[in-house]
Amino acid sequence: MRLNNPTIFVTGGAGFIGSAVIRHLLRDTQARVVNIDKLTYAANLDSLTPACGHPRYAFVQQCICDGAGLRTLFDKYQPDAVMNLAAESHVDRSIDGPNEFVQTNVVGTFTLLQETLRYWRAIAPRKRENFRFLHISTDEVFGSLGDEGLFTETTAYAPSSPYSATKASSDHLVRAWHETYDLPTVVTNCSNNYGPYHFPEKLIPHIIIKGLAGEPLPIYGDGSNIRDWLYVEDHARALSLVLERGKVGGTYNIGGRNERTNLRVVESICDLLDQLVPKEHPYRRLISFVEDRPGHDHRYAIDASKLELELGWRPQETFESGIEKTVRWYVDEKRWWRAILEKGYEATRVGLSSGLTRPSPVQ
Ligand code: NAD
Repeated sequence: MRLNNPTIFVTGGAGFIGSAVIRHLLRDTQARVVNIDKLTYAANLDSLTPACGHPRYAFVQQCICDGAGLRTLFDKYQPDAVMNLAAESHVDRSIDGPNEFVQTNVVGTFTLLQETLRYWRAIAPRKRENFRFLHISTDEVFGSLGDEGLFTETTAYAPSSPYSATKASSDHLVRAWHETYDLPTVVTNCSNNYGPYHFPEKLIPHIIIKGLAGEPLPIYGDGSNIRDWLYVEDHARALSLVLERGKVGGTYNIGGRNERTNLRVVESICDLLDQLVPKEHPYRRLISFVEDRPGHDHRYAIDASKLELELGWRPQETFESGIEKTVRWYVDEKRWWRAILEKGYEATRVGLSSGLTRPSPVQ
């Protein structure tokens, strides 16, 4: 890394991408990692078993909306960087209950920025110069594409869902803290991630788990919506590269050039399940089309050439290699996801309400 044995705050480190980032930092770098996570329903410390007891790892249960709590952690650990992954992340839940999304994604990012700024201003000049605040965001802030074109770093923001609107707000706050207060920030906007340790409410794990149970495989609308898929470990590697070498004040799009319709993704999963866990009938027979998501964006597609050209990043997985690894992992690691189901998470449909009610509790 650019820094010698840096101490890195990873917020949201018990989530899907945060845990991949922590596993990567501990395995492939000399960084010390402090995982700051509130432990919402989406968190899972079982995703961090390789980190448990690791001499360069510490976990703190802490909400990023609590400035005083964050201040104590900055004083105690004196970090060299913050990677902000703490968020409410599920679009369907944001439709039913946007409040939590505004709290964590907007107020939480604001609070974290304020405490980072306070700390950053007080540290020694050399440490201040090397310090970075990396904010992890999504391509959903750009809204929906038609059949042509790609999102670049200069695409105008046009978020459609409460989730993407709160992420867009947080991106703007981060940029403003750089422009106004000189805080050394970098923002990344990534396409849809998939891979091991993904919470069962998201499309790919949801379909694998339903398929293994022999239950209908729900596809929103006609399945023609297009997402651009990236294997989570490729995202983790990209984030560590951007943290190390990204230009201060800049933004980087991250994506693997893997556009697929939702229907094609589900069909790929079915075909892999046919090979790995064959049943009497092909899994494709379980596919069932259900009412579309309100405001469902048609297409997302990322142009990652800035990251490729400036920093030399390349994904290591194709969609085919990544989805095979993923399906195999869910087939082999049933204990991980069954524990979530046993805690009371019900894989029922959410995201069709008026936005004035809160989603039913899941734990
Ligand atoms: P996730 O829902 O799996 O994990 C989020 C984590 O944040 C959880 O561990 C949760 O406990 C924690 N958290 C939530 N509120 C918190 C709070 N107030 N204080 C502290 N911790 C809190 O999310 P993910 O899929 O890992 O996404 C991580 C980040 O990456 C998010 O910012 C998301 O917007 C962004 N992102 C996700 C994707 C994707 O495909 N999943 C793609 C691009 C960008």
